[in-house]
Amino acid sequence: MFNVNAPYWFDEAPCVGEDELFFSAHPSKRRMAVAMCENVCEHTEECLKFALENEQTVGVWGGKTGPDLVRLSEVLQSVD
Ligand code: SF4
Repeated sequence: MFNVNAPYWFDEAPCVGEDELFFSAHPSKRRMAVAMCENVCEHTEECLKFALENEQTVGVWGGKTGPDLVRLSEVLQSVD
């Protein structure tokens, strides 16, 4: 899941052990992952920030899917 050091709060994040949802190619599973981020996780904002800062654009992070993450990264780069 990680190619960088994970923040401490990932240790107990609801997505731990759920790679089949969070890195699925199936839209229905990705929607379930997004719902988990939005409805269960207490670290959605930090997670999204972490993903963008570390160029994590595959899978679901902070309630955003890969395409969302790519778009957000591009927007952030354009304002730098
Ligand atoms: S926001 Fe989603 S991907 Fe991020 S730690 Fe929480 S459950 Fe996991």
